[in-house]
Amino acid sequence: MELRLHDTLTREKRTFVPLDPKNVRMYVCGPTVYDFAHIGNARPVIVFDVLFRLLRHLYGEANVKYVRNITDVDDKINDRAARDFPGLPLNEAIRKVTEQTGKQFHADVDALGALRPTVEPRATEHIGEMREIIEKLIAGGFAYVAEDHVLFSPQAMNAANAGLPRYGALSNRSLDEMVAGARVDVAPYKKGNTDFVLWKPSKPGEPSWPSPAGIAAQGRPGWHIECSAMAWKHLGEHFDIHGGGIDLVFPHHENEVAQTCCAFHQQRMANYWMHNGFLQVESEKMSKSLGNFITIHELLKDWPGEVLRLNMLKTHYRSPIDWTMKSLEESAKTLDDWYRIAADAVPGEPDASVVEPLLDDLNTPQAIAALHGLRGNDIAGLAGSLRLLGFLAESAAQWERRKQQASGVDAKEVERLIAERTAARGRKDFKESDRIRDLLATMGVAIKDSKEGTTWEIAR
Ligand code: AMP
Ligand code: ZN
Repeated sequence: MELRLHDTLTREKRTFVPLDPKNVRMYVCGPTVYDFAHIGNARPVIVFDVLFRLLRHLYGEANVKYVRNITDVDDKINDRAARDFPGLPLNEAIRKVTEQTGKQFHADVDALGALRPTVEPRATEHIGEMREIIEKLIAGGFAYVAEDHVLFSPQAMNAANAGLPRYGALSNRSLDEMVAGARVDVAPYKKGNTDFVLWKPSKPGEPSWPSPAGIAAQGRPGWHIECSAMAWKHLGEHFDIHGGGIDLVFPHHENEVAQTCCAFHQQRMANYWMHNGFLQVESEKMSKSLGNFITIHELLKDWPGEVLRLNMLKTHYRSPIDWTMKSLEESAKTLDDWYRIAADAVPGEPDASVVEPLLDDLNTPQAIAALHGLRGNDIAGLAGSLRLLGFLAESAAQWERRKQQASGVDAKEVERLIAERTAARGRKDFKESDRIRDLLATMGVAIKDSKEGTTWEIAR
Protein backbone atom coordinates (compact mmCIF):
# COMPACT_ATOMS: atom_id res chain seq x y z
CA MET A 1 0.00 0.00 0.00
CA GLU A 2 1.20 3.49 -0.70
CA LEU A 3 1.41 6.49 1.59
CA ARG A 4 -1.36 9.06 1.24
CA LEU A 5 -1.17 12.48 2.86
CA HIS A 6 -3.68 15.29 3.19
CA ASP A 7 -2.44 18.46 1.50
CA THR A 8 -3.78 21.76 2.87
CA LEU A 9 -3.23 23.45 -0.51
CA THR A 10 -5.30 21.07 -2.62
CA ARG A 11 -7.57 20.13 0.32
CA GLU A 12 -7.42 16.44 -0.51
CA LYS A 13 -5.55 13.27 0.34
CA ARG A 14 -3.03 12.43 -2.33
CA THR A 15 -0.55 9.62 -2.88
CA PHE A 16 2.83 10.73 -1.62
CA VAL A 17 5.44 10.71 -4.37
CA PRO A 18 8.79 12.09 -3.19
CA LEU A 19 10.76 14.34 -5.54
CA ASP A 20 13.73 12.04 -4.88
CA PRO A 21 13.19 8.79 -2.92
CA LYS A 22 16.87 8.87 -1.96
CA ASN A 23 16.40 12.30 -0.39
CA VAL A 24 12.92 12.75 1.07
CA ARG A 25 12.72 16.25 2.55
CA MET A 26 10.47 17.66 5.27
CA TYR A 27 10.44 21.04 7.00
CA VAL A 28 8.45 21.77 10.17
CA CYS A 29 8.22 25.15 11.88
CA GLY A 30 9.82 24.86 15.28
CA PRO A 31 9.52 26.80 18.51
CA THR A 32 10.25 30.39 19.30
CA VAL A 33 12.54 29.94 22.28
CA TYR A 34 11.51 32.35 25.00
CA ASP A 35 9.68 30.18 27.55
CA PHE A 36 8.81 26.59 28.44
CA ALA A 37 6.93 24.88 25.60
CA HIS A 38 3.29 24.08 26.36
CA ILE A 39 1.46 20.85 25.63
CA GLY A 40 -0.04 22.39 22.46
CA ASN A 41 3.49 22.87 21.13
CA ALA A 42 4.09 19.18 21.76
CA ARG A 43 1.47 18.26 19.18
CA PRO A 44 3.39 19.13 15.99
CA VAL A 45 6.55 17.70 17.59
CA ILE A 46 4.90 14.30 18.17
CA VAL A 47 2.81 14.20 14.99
CA PHE A 48 5.70 15.01 12.66
CA ASP A 49 7.98 12.67 14.59
CA VAL A 50 5.58 9.85 13.72
CA LEU A 51 5.68 10.93 10.08
CA PHE A 52 9.50 11.14 10.20
CA ARG A 53 9.66 7.60 11.61
CA LEU A 54 7.19 6.33 9.01
CA LEU A 55 9.15 7.94 6.14
CA ARG A 56 12.37 6.38 7.47
CA HIS A 57 10.62 3.02 7.62
CA LEU A 58 9.44 3.38 4.01
CA TYR A 59 12.46 5.02 2.35
CA GLY A 60 15.36 4.06 4.64
CA GLU A 61 16.86 6.02 7.52
CA ALA A 62 19.63 7.58 5.45
CA ASN A 63 17.20 8.83 2.82
CA VAL A 64 15.00 11.14 4.87
CA LYS A 65 15.98 14.65 5.87
CA TYR A 66 13.89 16.39 8.54
CA VAL A 67 14.52 20.05 9.29
CA ARG A 68 12.89 21.77 12.26
CA ASN A 69 14.07 25.29 12.96
CA ILE A 70 14.61 27.22 16.15
CA THR A 71 13.39 30.82 16.01
CA ASP A 72 15.83 32.82 18.09
CA VAL A 73 15.06 36.36 16.85
CA ASP A 74 11.72 37.65 18.02
CA ASP A 75 10.19 40.48 20.05
CA LYS A 76 8.98 38.02 22.69
CA ILE A 77 12.58 36.87 23.21
CA ASN A 78 13.78 40.46 23.55
CA ASP A 79 11.07 41.25 26.11
CA ARG A 80 11.86 38.18 28.13
CA ALA A 81 15.59 38.92 28.09
CA ALA A 82 15.07 42.48 29.32
CA ARG A 83 12.74 41.22 32.07
CA ASP A 84 14.85 38.27 33.30
CA PHE A 85 18.33 39.75 32.97
CA PRO A 86 17.91 43.50 33.45
CA GLY A 87 21.59 43.96 34.43
CA LEU A 88 23.02 42.48 31.23
CA PRO A 89 23.49 44.08 27.81
CA LEU A 90 20.43 43.01 25.75
CA ASN A 91 22.38 40.81 23.33
CA GLU A 92 23.95 38.83 26.14
CA ALA A 93 20.61 38.52 27.91
CA ILE A 94 19.03 37.25 24.68
CA ARG A 95 21.73 34.62 24.33
CA LYS A 96 21.01 33.44 27.86
CA VAL A 97 17.27 33.21 27.22
CA THR A 98 17.59 31.33 23.94
CA GLU A 99 20.25 28.93 25.29
CA GLN A 100 18.24 28.13 28.38
CA THR A 101 14.90 27.72 26.59
CA GLY A 102 16.51 25.76 23.77
CA LYS A 103 17.91 23.26 26.30
CA GLN A 104 14.55 22.97 28.06
CA PHE A 105 12.86 22.33 24.73
CA HIS A 106 15.28 19.52 23.91
CA ALA A 107 14.88 17.91 27.31
CA ASP A 108 11.09 18.04 26.92
CA VAL A 109 10.86 16.62 23.41
CA ASP A 110 13.49 13.94 24.08
CA ALA A 111 11.27 12.75 26.92
CA LEU A 112 8.31 12.61 24.52
CA GLY A 113 10.23 10.04 22.48
CA ALA A 114 10.74 12.41 19.54
CA LEU A 115 13.84 11.77 17.45
CA ARG A 116 16.03 14.80 16.92
CA PRO A 117 15.49 16.21 13.43
CA THR A 118 18.33 15.76 10.95
CA VAL A 119 19.07 19.49 11.13
CA GLU A 120 17.89 22.09 13.66
CA PRO A 121 18.87 25.41 12.12
CA ARG A 122 18.77 28.65 14.08
CA ALA A 123 17.44 31.81 12.49
CA THR A 124 20.41 33.89 13.66
CA GLU A 125 22.75 31.59 11.72
CA HIS A 126 20.92 32.21 8.42
CA ILE A 127 20.79 35.98 8.16
CA GLY A 128 22.97 35.84 5.01
CA GLU A 129 20.45 33.59 3.22
CA MET A 130 17.61 35.89 4.30
CA ARG A 131 19.42 38.91 2.80
CA GLU A 132 20.01 36.95 -0.40
CA ILE A 133 16.32 36.07 -0.80
CA ILE A 134 15.31 39.65 -0.02
CA GLU A 135 17.68 40.97 -2.71
CA LYS A 136 16.20 38.54 -5.24
CA LEU A 137 12.66 39.65 -4.35
CA ILE A 138 13.56 43.31 -4.80
CA ALA A 139 15.27 42.59 -8.12
CA GLY A 140 12.18 40.68 -9.30
CA GLY A 141 9.86 43.57 -8.44
CA PHE A 142 8.08 41.69 -5.62
CA ALA A 143 9.52 43.74 -2.76
CA TYR A 144 10.55 47.34 -2.14
CA VAL A 145 12.48 49.45 0.34
CA ALA A 146 10.65 52.09 2.40
CA GLU A 147 11.98 53.94 5.44
CA ASP A 148 14.69 51.34 6.08
CA HIS A 149 12.14 48.51 5.89
CA VAL A 150 11.81 45.98 3.10
CA LEU A 151 8.24 45.01 2.30
CA PHE A 152 6.77 42.23 0.20
CA SER A 153 3.86 43.09 -2.06
CA PRO A 154 1.30 40.27 -2.52
CA GLN A 155 -0.34 42.43 -5.17
CA ALA A 156 2.87 42.53 -7.22
CA MET A 157 3.04 38.75 -6.93
CA ASN A 158 -0.48 38.19 -8.21
CA ALA A 159 -0.02 40.76 -10.99
CA ALA A 160 3.14 38.98 -12.23
CA ASN A 161 1.31 35.70 -12.74
CA ALA A 162 4.38 34.17 -14.41
CA GLY A 163 4.26 30.53 -13.36
CA LEU A 164 3.80 31.51 -9.74
CA PRO A 165 1.16 30.30 -7.31
CA ARG A 166 -1.61 32.75 -6.44
CA TYR A 167 -1.15 34.63 -3.16
CA GLY A 168 -3.97 33.35 -0.94
CA ALA A 169 -4.17 29.89 -2.54
CA LEU A 170 -2.80 28.01 0.48
CA SER A 171 -5.12 29.63 3.00
CA ASN A 172 -8.00 29.73 0.51
CA ARG A 173 -8.46 33.50 0.70
CA SER A 174 -8.86 36.04 -2.01
CA LEU A 175 -6.36 38.88 -2.11
CA ASP A 176 -9.09 41.35 -3.11
CA GLU A 177 -11.02 40.45 0.03
CA MET A 178 -7.88 40.75 2.12
CA VAL A 179 -7.24 44.19 0.68
CA ALA A 180 -10.81 45.28 1.35
CA GLY A 181 -10.81 43.85 4.87
CA ALA A 182 -7.37 45.08 5.94
CA ARG A 183 -6.98 47.38 8.91
CA VAL A 184 -7.09 51.07 8.08
CA ASP A 185 -4.27 52.16 10.38
CA VAL A 186 -1.58 50.54 8.21
CA ALA A 187 2.02 51.76 8.68
CA PRO A 188 2.52 54.82 6.43
CA TYR A 189 5.54 53.34 4.61
CA LYS A 190 3.46 50.47 3.20
CA LYS A 191 2.31 50.93 -0.39
CA GLY A 192 -0.42 48.31 -0.07
CA ASN A 193 -2.28 47.42 3.08
CA THR A 194 -1.53 43.69 2.77
CA ASP A 195 2.23 44.22 2.29
CA PHE A 196 4.27 42.39 4.91
CA VAL A 197 7.70 42.98 6.43
CA LEU A 198 10.77 41.12 5.19
CA TRP A 199 13.26 43.28 7.04
CA LYS A 200 13.00 46.12 9.54
CA PRO A 201 15.38 48.51 11.29
CA SER A 202 16.51 47.50 14.79
CA LYS A 203 15.92 49.79 17.72
CA PRO A 204 19.00 50.75 19.77
CA GLY A 205 20.17 47.79 21.86
CA GLU A 206 18.18 45.23 19.86
CA PRO A 207 19.99 42.50 17.91
CA SER A 208 20.94 43.85 14.51
CA TRP A 209 22.71 42.85 11.34
CA PRO A 210 23.86 44.65 8.19
CA SER A 211 20.78 45.30 6.08
CA PRO A 212 20.16 44.17 2.50
CA ALA A 213 19.52 46.40 -0.51
CA GLY A 214 21.99 49.11 0.46
CA ILE A 215 19.98 50.19 3.53
CA ALA A 216 22.50 51.98 5.76
CA ALA A 217 20.78 51.32 9.11
CA GLN A 218 21.34 47.95 10.78
CA GLY A 219 18.23 45.81 10.93
CA ARG A 220 16.65 42.45 11.64
CA PRO A 221 14.49 40.01 9.69
CA GLY A 222 10.72 39.54 9.80
CA TRP A 223 9.50 36.16 11.02
CA HIS A 224 8.29 34.68 7.73
CA ILE A 225 11.56 35.16 5.84
CA GLU A 226 13.39 33.12 8.47
CA CYS A 227 11.68 29.87 7.47
CA SER A 228 12.03 30.53 3.74
CA ALA A 229 15.78 30.99 4.26
CA MET A 230 16.32 27.96 6.46
CA ALA A 231 14.21 25.67 4.29
CA TRP A 232 16.10 26.85 1.18
CA LYS A 233 19.52 26.37 2.76
CA HIS A 234 18.84 22.86 4.03
CA LEU A 235 16.22 21.47 1.63
CA GLY A 236 16.46 23.51 -1.56
CA GLU A 237 14.06 25.68 -3.53
CA HIS A 238 11.37 23.00 -3.73
CA PHE A 239 10.94 20.06 -1.38
CA ASP A 240 8.41 17.41 -0.32
CA ILE A 241 6.58 18.22 2.91
CA HIS A 242 6.10 21.36 4.98
CA GLY A 243 4.32 21.11 8.31
CA GLY A 244 3.19 23.00 11.39
CA GLY A 245 0.10 23.82 13.43
CA ILE A 246 -3.09 24.95 11.69
CA ASP A 247 -2.66 28.47 13.12
CA LEU A 248 0.40 28.89 10.89
CA VAL A 249 -1.42 28.54 7.56
CA PHE A 250 -2.10 32.27 7.47
CA PRO A 251 -0.17 34.44 7.36
CA HIS A 252 3.04 32.51 8.12
CA HIS A 253 2.91 29.75 5.54
CA GLU A 254 1.11 31.82 2.92
CA ASN A 255 3.98 34.30 3.18
CA GLU A 256 6.66 31.62 3.15
CA VAL A 257 5.25 30.31 -0.14
CA ALA A 258 5.13 33.83 -1.57
CA GLN A 259 8.74 34.59 -0.65
CA THR A 260 10.21 31.29 -1.78
CA CYS A 261 8.25 30.93 -5.01
CA CYS A 262 8.84 34.53 -6.11
CA ALA A 263 12.55 34.44 -5.24
CA PHE A 264 13.23 31.17 -7.04
CA HIS A 265 10.55 31.27 -9.75
CA GLN A 266 8.84 28.14 -8.49
CA GLN A 267 5.25 27.05 -8.86
CA ARG A 268 5.44 25.34 -5.46
CA MET A 269 7.53 25.53 -2.32
CA ALA A 270 6.50 22.16 -0.86
CA ASN A 271 4.47 19.45 -2.57
CA TYR A 272 2.44 18.62 0.56
CA TRP A 273 1.38 21.08 3.25
CA MET A 274 0.41 19.35 6.47
CA HIS A 275 -1.20 21.03 9.48
CA ASN A 276 -2.09 19.62 12.86
CA GLY A 277 -5.29 20.66 14.58
CA PHE A 278 -5.37 22.58 17.82
CA LEU A 279 -5.23 21.25 21.35
CA GLN A 280 -7.64 22.34 24.07
CA VAL A 281 -7.47 21.50 27.77
CA GLU A 282 -10.56 20.03 29.47
CA SER A 283 -12.69 21.55 26.65
CA GLU A 284 -11.29 25.04 27.03
CA LYS A 285 -8.82 27.05 25.02
CA MET A 286 -5.50 26.93 26.83
CA SER A 287 -4.44 30.32 28.08
CA LYS A 288 -2.50 31.88 30.91
CA SER A 289 -5.51 33.96 31.98
CA LEU A 290 -7.77 30.90 32.32
CA GLY A 291 -5.14 29.23 34.48
CA ASN A 292 -5.18 26.06 32.38
CA PHE A 293 -1.88 26.69 30.65
CA ILE A 294 0.21 23.52 30.99
CA THR A 295 3.82 23.13 30.04
CA ILE A 296 5.36 19.85 28.90
CA HIS A 297 7.85 20.30 31.73
CA GLU A 298 5.09 20.33 34.38
CA LEU A 299 3.31 17.30 32.90
CA LEU A 300 6.56 15.33 32.83
CA LYS A 301 6.73 15.58 36.62
CA ASP A 302 3.56 13.47 36.86
CA TRP A 303 3.59 11.36 33.71
CA PRO A 304 6.22 9.52 31.66
CA GLY A 305 6.75 11.21 28.29
CA GLU A 306 5.45 8.14 26.45
CA VAL A 307 2.10 8.50 28.23
CA LEU A 308 1.83 12.06 26.86
CA ARG A 309 2.84 10.74 23.45
CA LEU A 310 0.20 8.00 23.43
CA ASN A 311 -2.41 10.42 24.69
CA MET A 312 -1.63 12.77 21.80
CA LEU A 313 -1.74 10.02 19.17
CA LYS A 314 -5.15 8.71 20.25
CA THR A 315 -6.63 11.59 18.21
CA HIS A 316 -6.08 11.99 14.48
CA TYR A 317 -3.63 14.82 13.87
CA ARG A 318 -6.04 16.96 11.85
CA SER A 319 -8.83 16.84 14.43
CA PRO A 320 -8.96 19.14 17.41
CA ILE A 321 -7.85 17.36 20.57
CA ASP A 322 -9.31 17.72 24.01
CA TRP A 323 -6.56 17.08 26.57
CA THR A 324 -8.10 15.63 29.73
CA MET A 325 -6.90 14.07 32.94
CA LYS A 326 -9.23 11.13 32.40
CA SER A 327 -7.74 10.34 29.03
CA LEU A 328 -4.21 10.63 30.45
CA GLU A 329 -5.03 8.09 33.14
CA GLU A 330 -6.32 5.67 30.52
CA SER A 331 -3.21 6.18 28.41
CA ALA A 332 -1.05 5.43 31.44
CA LYS A 333 -2.90 2.16 32.11
CA THR A 334 -2.53 1.12 28.47
CA LEU A 335 1.19 1.78 28.45
CA ASP A 336 1.69 -0.08 31.74
CA ASP A 337 0.11 -3.08 30.11
CA TRP A 338 2.14 -2.80 26.91
CA TYR A 339 5.36 -2.36 28.87
CA ARG A 340 4.61 -5.41 30.98
CA ILE A 341 3.97 -7.71 28.05
CA ALA A 342 6.01 -6.27 25.16
CA ALA A 343 8.93 -4.16 26.39
CA ASP A 344 11.27 -7.11 26.93
CA ALA A 345 10.02 -9.14 23.94
CA VAL A 346 12.19 -9.48 20.84
CA PRO A 347 10.46 -7.11 18.41
CA GLY A 348 9.24 -8.41 15.07
CA GLU A 349 8.48 -6.37 11.97
CA PRO A 350 5.82 -3.70 12.51
CA ASP A 351 2.50 -5.35 11.76
CA ALA A 352 0.55 -4.54 8.59
CA SER A 353 -2.57 -3.88 10.67
CA VAL A 354 -0.69 -0.97 12.30
CA VAL A 355 1.28 0.28 9.31
CA GLU A 356 -1.70 0.44 6.94
CA PRO A 357 -3.71 3.01 8.90
CA LEU A 358 -0.54 5.08 9.27
CA LEU A 359 -0.16 5.06 5.50
CA ASP A 360 -3.65 6.53 5.29
CA ASP A 361 -2.76 10.09 6.30
CA LEU A 362 -1.31 9.04 9.66
CA ASN A 363 -4.44 7.49 11.10
CA THR A 364 -2.94 6.92 14.55
CA PRO A 365 -6.22 6.21 16.39
CA GLN A 366 -6.81 3.28 14.07
CA ALA A 367 -3.19 2.16 14.42
CA ILE A 368 -3.64 2.20 18.21
CA ALA A 369 -6.81 0.13 17.90
CA ALA A 370 -4.77 -2.37 15.88
CA LEU A 371 -2.15 -2.48 18.66
CA HIS A 372 -4.89 -3.55 21.07
CA GLY A 373 -5.80 -6.26 18.56
CA LEU A 374 -2.21 -7.57 18.44
CA ARG A 375 -1.93 -7.68 22.21
CA GLY A 376 -3.70 -11.02 22.51
CA ASN A 377 -2.02 -12.86 19.66
CA ASP A 378 1.27 -11.45 18.38
CA ILE A 379 3.58 -9.98 21.02
CA ALA A 380 6.56 -9.69 18.64
CA GLY A 381 4.38 -7.79 16.18
CA LEU A 382 3.08 -5.61 18.99
CA ALA A 383 6.62 -4.83 20.18
CA GLY A 384 7.83 -4.00 16.65
CA SER A 385 4.81 -1.84 15.92
CA LEU A 386 5.13 0.04 19.21
CA ARG A 387 8.76 0.78 18.43
CA LEU A 388 7.86 2.09 14.99
CA LEU A 389 5.52 4.54 16.73
CA GLY A 390 8.28 5.65 19.10
CA PHE A 391 7.31 3.68 22.23
CA LEU A 392 9.17 1.25 24.48
CA ALA A 393 12.36 3.26 24.84
CA GLU A 394 12.79 1.74 28.31
CA SER A 395 12.91 -1.83 29.61
CA ALA A 396 9.96 -3.18 31.59
CA ALA A 397 12.08 -2.95 34.77
CA GLN A 398 13.06 0.68 34.14
CA TRP A 399 9.43 1.55 33.51
CA GLU A 400 8.31 -0.12 36.74
CA ARG A 401 11.12 1.49 38.76
CA ARG A 402 10.22 4.90 37.45
CA LYS A 403 6.58 4.33 38.38
CA GLN A 404 7.63 3.33 41.89
CA GLN A 405 9.76 6.45 42.22
CA ALA A 406 7.02 8.70 40.89
CA SER A 407 4.47 7.15 43.24
CA GLY A 408 6.51 8.10 46.29
CA VAL A 409 6.24 4.50 47.56
CA ASP A 410 9.27 3.43 49.54
CA ALA A 411 10.40 0.20 47.85
CA LYS A 412 12.36 -0.95 50.95
CA GLU A 413 9.27 -0.57 53.12
CA VAL A 414 7.21 -2.55 50.61
CA GLU A 415 9.80 -5.34 50.55
CA ARG A 416 9.79 -5.42 54.35
CA LEU A 417 5.99 -5.69 54.50
CA ILE A 418 6.00 -8.45 51.91
CA ALA A 419 8.58 -10.39 53.91
CA GLU A 420 6.40 -10.00 57.03
CA ARG A 421 3.38 -11.20 55.10
CA THR A 422 5.28 -14.21 53.77
CA ALA A 423 6.27 -15.06 57.33
CA ALA A 424 2.64 -14.69 58.49
CA ARG A 425 1.47 -17.00 55.73
CA GLY A 426 4.20 -19.47 56.69
CA ARG A 427 2.72 -19.72 60.19
CA LYS A 428 -0.79 -19.77 58.69
CA ASP A 429 -1.73 -16.42 60.27
CA PHE A 430 -4.02 -15.44 57.39
CA LYS A 431 -5.62 -12.62 59.34
CA GLU A 432 -2.24 -10.91 59.57
CA SER A 433 -1.28 -11.67 55.95
CA ASP A 434 -4.60 -10.19 54.75
CA ARG A 435 -4.07 -7.14 56.91
CA ILE A 436 -0.67 -6.54 55.28
CA ARG A 437 -2.10 -7.07 51.80
CA ASP A 438 -4.78 -4.44 52.51
CA LEU A 439 -2.21 -2.07 53.94
CA LEU A 440 -0.14 -2.40 50.77
CA ALA A 441 -3.24 -1.76 48.67
CA THR A 442 -3.89 1.50 50.51
CA MET A 443 -0.29 2.47 49.66
CA GLY A 444 -1.15 1.87 45.99
CA VAL A 445 0.82 -1.37 45.79
CA ALA A 446 -0.61 -4.50 44.15
CA ILE A 447 0.97 -7.85 44.93
CA LYS A 448 0.92 -11.11 43.04
CA ASP A 449 1.74 -14.52 44.51
CA SER A 450 3.22 -17.29 42.40
CA LYS A 451 5.36 -20.40 42.89
CA GLU A 452 8.48 -18.25 42.57
CA GLY A 453 7.36 -15.91 45.34
CA THR A 454 5.56 -12.61 45.69
CA THR A 455 6.04 -9.76 43.21
CA TRP A 456 4.61 -6.27 43.46
CA GLU A 457 3.87 -3.23 41.33
CA ILE A 458 2.28 0.18 41.61
CA ALA A 459 -1.41 -0.10 40.83
CA ARG A 460 -2.65 2.74 38.63
P1 AMP B 1 4.80 28.82 18.47
O1 AMP B 1 6.02 28.67 19.34
O2 AMP B 1 3.64 29.47 19.13
O3 AMP B 1 5.14 29.41 17.12
O4 AMP B 1 4.27 27.35 18.18
C1 AMP B 1 5.11 26.27 17.79
C2 AMP B 1 4.27 25.21 17.13
O5 AMP B 1 3.22 24.76 18.03
C3 AMP B 1 3.53 25.68 15.88
O6 AMP B 1 3.57 24.65 14.92
C4 AMP B 1 2.12 25.93 16.35
O7 AMP B 1 1.19 25.81 15.32
C5 AMP B 1 1.95 24.83 17.38
N1 AMP B 1 0.90 25.12 18.38
C6 AMP B 1 0.83 26.20 19.21
N2 AMP B 1 -0.25 26.13 20.01
C7 AMP B 1 -0.90 24.97 19.72
C8 AMP B 1 -2.08 24.30 20.22
N3 AMP B 1 -2.81 24.80 21.22
N4 AMP B 1 -2.43 23.13 19.64
C9 AMP B 1 -1.70 22.58 18.65
N5 AMP B 1 -0.58 23.14 18.14
C10 AMP B 1 -0.17 24.32 18.66
ZN1 ZN C 1 7.95 28.74 9.80
